This record gives sequence, structure tokens and C-alpha cells, in this order.
Amino acid sequence: MRDHTVDYRLVCTNCSAKYPENAQEFRCIICNGILEVSYDYGRLRLESNFRREKITHKKYAAFFPVNKRLVSLNEGGTELRRDVRLKGAWEGNGLHLKVETENPTRTFKDRGSSVEISKARELGFGEVCCASTGNMGLSLARYAREEGMKCTIFISKSANKEKIAKIRVQGAAIREIGGDFNDSLNAAESFAAKREVFLCGDYHYRKEGQKSLLFEAIEQMGYKVPDYIIVQVGNSTLLAAIFKGLKEFKYLGLISRIPRLIAVQSSRCDPIVRAYENERGVNYVRPKTRADAIAVGYPTFGFEGLNAVRATEGFAERVKDSEITKAISLLLKSTGIAAEPGGAAGLAGFLKICREKPKMFKGKEILVIITGNNEE
Ligand SMILES: [Zn+2]
Repeated sequence: MRDHTVDYRLVCTNCSAKYPENAQEFRCIICNGILEVSYDYGRLRLESNFRREKITHKKYAAFFPVNKRLVSLNEGGTELRRDVRLKGAWEGNGLHLKVETENPTRTFKDRGSSVEISKARELGFGEVCCASTGNMGLSLARYAREEGMKCTIFISKSANKEKIAKIRVQGAAIREIGGDFNDSLNAAESFAAKREVFLCGDYHYRKEGQKSLLFEAIEQMGYKVPDYIIVQVGNSTLLAAIFKGLKEFKYLGLISRIPRLIAVQSSRCDPIVRAYENERGVNYVRPKTRADAIAVGYPTFGFEGLNAVRATEGFAERVKDSEITKAISLLLKSTGIAAEPGGAAGLAGFLKICREKPKMFKGKEILVIITGNNEE
């Protein structure tokens, strides 16, 4: 296990510029690229009882860039629902769902908030901010409240009103911004640049925290690697985190291969699917989907997400909003699990692929992530 004296560095994923541990840049100052936490993997040692330890987010502290206390609200340890049947659509074995709606604020975002708030505390900040479409803001506000930190959330005026109300209940200040998520993102970044405020959001520290979702699922499957992992994509941080987590487990010999990764977006906000199809870079698309949790026109981790799909010989798929609605209702009827549109887009993608390519998943193991439920 990482002994909390092993150094890490931040490395630009675009130009490979290196930054020291605890550097406060959130993008590369040379090329504006996204940074990544790079550990000295050769010194990563797992304790002998690692596989027997209870499965929770905290178990993977060795894989996080946190040197002091890990702030936790008992996030993670979510159910892996095995061999799920979906009435009339999937009657075989092999479909497994990771139920992230069981987290403290009902989404996978809590894993990233745990690491970000820990890091903000460790670096001496008393105030945080982030841009959000709703769920991340709610999660960050909850964790900031726990630590007695001031928190400001930048959110689009057109965002989900119920989510804005929930963030307010957690005591965060709310700045409603015109335009879409990317306008809120610009506002949050310039707010943090001018003040002693720790910028949270879809950057390198959050990505590290999101890896625990993948680690848990692999352990819950008894280290049997699925053939496919299907995940909905907004800012693409989770997809990038899953790919990084897979590479880390493989490096440590805990798994022997890496599954194919399938990215799913709404047809009304599909910049990564377009880039995949056109074999080009990711370009901005105006988001029009009602799946607000994945309504991101220009994903911060778009390049990394696309790379994860291509490197694993996976692919990107789009689904209609009406297909997402049907997937939510089928999921509820068949399993009792409730999800919001952004949380079930990956499942809608699975169902679409089953219809259009009926042989693809036959006899295979498929992991689908149900990421959240904050809309009722
Ligand atoms: Zn760079």
C-alpha cells in the first residue's frame, strides 16, 4: 500500500510537462492541457490482506493523492447487482449493475468529493468552489459542510431547479450563470483564480477519487474482468477514471486484462460520439438533452475519454432521450432501482446495442454503471 510518503507528480496529458506534488495548477500553464496524477507505481505495495478487507471507497486510500486524513461520509461500498434480468429485453446472465445511487448524496460524485475536500483541507484552504450541472455541486456542498468549509457552486440558470434547491439546503452559495455548463465552468475557474479558493470539479484530484468505483466493481466480481464496461459520459471524468483505475490494477497484477469501454451519450449532446465517428478531436455541441447530469457540450476529459474508448477497442454510442426514459422505467420495473436520466443513459445504450447487435453481448460479462438519482 502507498505508505503516504511515496511521492506523486502531476503530468500534463498533452505536452507531458511535469509539476511537483501539491502544485496548485489545475491545468498545464504551458499548453492548458489537463493534468494527471502520476504515482511512483514501482513503490506501490498492497498489504497482504488487501483482498479480504471490507470493500469501501476508503479501502483504496493508497490509490489517492491524499497524504493526510481522507474526509469520508462512508461513500462507496455500493451494491453490485449481479446477473440482472430486464423484462423482455435481457433474460440471460452476465449483466451486472453498479448501483451508485446508494452513495450519501445519491451519485458517484461523492467519491471524487471525498478526495477533493481532503486535498483542499491538506493544502490549507477553507473555501472551495466548482461548476456543476447539479449533482457534483450537491455532493461538494455536502462534503464542504461536513468540514466547515465555505462553498460556492456555479450553475447554469437553466439547470434543474430541484437540484439547485438541494444544494442550497447544504448551505452553499449559488451563482447562477447564463448559458450552459461550459459558461459556468469558465466562471468558476476565474472566481478561483482571483481568490484563495480551492477549485474543485472535473480535474485531476476528482478523477483519482472516482477510481474507487471501478476498484470496488472488480473486487465484487471476484477479480473476474468483465468483457465490457458501459458508462454514460458528460464531462468524461468517470470514463477517464475507470481507464486509469484499470491500468493501475493491471500494473499491480490484480487483473490480467482490460475490458472494452463503451461510452454512451444522449443524441442531444454527443460531442464524444461525433468525435469517435469522425475520427477527429472533440468539438463543442450545444447541449439540449433532458439528461442534465450529462449535458456537457465540451467535456473537460473529452480527449481522455475518447482515448480510453479507442485504446480498449471499445466504441461510443448515442441514445435518444426517449430511449433513456424507457430504460429508467424498465430498470425500476425489473429491479426496483430508481435512476435519473443522466444515471441510466449507459443502460439505455446497453439496450440499444442488444437490439441492434444481438450477438455482441451473448455469453459475455457486462458491467453497467447506474451513476445517480437526484430527480424525483
Ligand atoms: Zn501541457
